[in-house]
Amino acid sequence: MTTNKAPHRLYLHENEMPTRWYNLRAGMKELPDPMLLPDGTPAQEEHLYPVFCKALAHQELDDETEFVDIPDEVLDIYKVYRPAPLCRAYDLENYLETPARIYYKFEGNNTSGSHKLNSAVAQAYYAKAEGLKGITTETGAGQWGTALAEAAKYFGLDLIVYMVKVSAEQKPFRKIMMETFDASVVASPSDTTNVGRAILEADPSNSGSLGTAISEAVETAVTTEGYRYVLGSVLNQVLLHQSIIGLETEIALERLGEYPDVIVGCAGGGSNLGGLIAPFMRDKIAGKRDVRIVASEPASCPSLTRGRYAYDFCDTGKTTPLARMYTLGCGFKPSANHAGGLRYHGMSPILSKLYHDGYMEAVAVEQSVVFEAAKLFARLETILPAPESSHAIKVAIDEAVRCRESGEEKTILFGLTGTGYFDLNAYDQHNKGTMSDYVPTDEDLERSLSGLPPIAGVSQ
Ligand SMILES: *Cc1c(COP(=O)(O)O)cnc(C)c1O
Repeated sequence: MTTNKAPHRLYLHENEMPTRWYNLRAGMKELPDPMLLPDGTPAQEEHLYPVFCKALAHQELDDETEFVDIPDEVLDIYKVYRPAPLCRAYDLENYLETPARIYYKFEGNNTSGSHKLNSAVAQAYYAKAEGLKGITTETGAGQWGTALAEAAKYFGLDLIVYMVKVSAEQKPFRKIMMETFDASVVASPSDTTNVGRAILEADPSNSGSLGTAISEAVETAVTTEGYRYVLGSVLNQVLLHQSIIGLETEIALERLGEYPDVIVGCAGGGSNLGGLIAPFMRDKIAGKRDVRIVASEPASCPSLTRGRYAYDFCDTGKTTPLARMYTLGCGFKPSANHAGGLRYHGMSPILSKLYHDGYMEAVAVEQSVVFEAAKLFARLETILPAPESSHAIKVAIDEAVRCRESGEEKTILFGLTGTGYFDLNAYDQHNKGTMSDYVPTDEDLERSLSGLPPIAGVSQ
């Protein structure tokens, strides 16, 4: 195949941007198991109406529609910060002396510093279109909260963000950023909800988790008139919105006469990876192309590599419906790790199913080697990567090194989900050599997995 020499950064014209999202489920040979209500019956759209607005409840359960038109109002905002560039990491290739070609899709070019704005804009749009007054959500590291604050402000919605307490304390600038867009930021667990009060009563010094913040956000949404809840990852609807990443990448690679041999993405709840791989996974499932897909997750929160494929709650407070996914147990408390966006006990049910059926691989990496890769990347590519994204960088570099050893000229693609300018404490620790790597023991995992809810007819 002749390859046109790729520019360092290839920006599509905004008129070339895809106008439809791609629904991965429509191409799957076997669908993910259905979401279940607490009584074990599959959730129907109307069961979700108290929590999600109607259009999003529909998208959540729609396994059939292959392409979904992106509303014009959403496209208008996408065009403010998209198409996102597809970059060729020439200097990294040279440094690694690899015959592989390394491409990355850079999603950090907006104020949230991450891909999260792609779904935030969509979710805020649908909420506004249904006449809602406000939305609630949770945020860990703060990227999702920031993205949603931007989107809510744009559409004139109120926003309450439950921010994991330890993050709110460690990242005051993220909180200020959200408040700049007029969001109300509440440190979680808080005394504003029943769930939060119960947790604080049992443990007044509880520093919070994403799961707890979700419980609080859901409770506030279902008990406040004109409010609904929105979530920045894991859900099927979020993967749908994030497919814009992969669809743009497909067009850009086509222009270069390229098709990836390996795709790497970091995986927290699975939304950027699910979005990046969407069109390539479609080809793979259809037997048209063979591409290896690798999820990179933190060794401190290894849901794919060490979790169980089981029905579990999406939150610590056990208030959400049950999803079948790779999980560490909804009571799992990940150790302090700087990739806040990857500290979630579960994984997208779509990606979980694809992984379970052998369409994807996963590796777990420790944070100190991830930061080494991050710093190398920053020096060569002039982007300070987010700790989350750096998990993908690390695994892509390992792949490129293997190509050096085997002489294979593979095309490697990875997702660079965001920037790390709010993570300088973590970089500081790495610079000073004080960063630690905590990996949970088998006993830790057994303990949290023993709390999985029993489901009739499913071995948990
Ligand atoms: C949230 C986040 C992630 C992880 O979330 P996914 O849903 O797994 O994509 C990765 N990178 C960045 C920069 C994030 O903000």
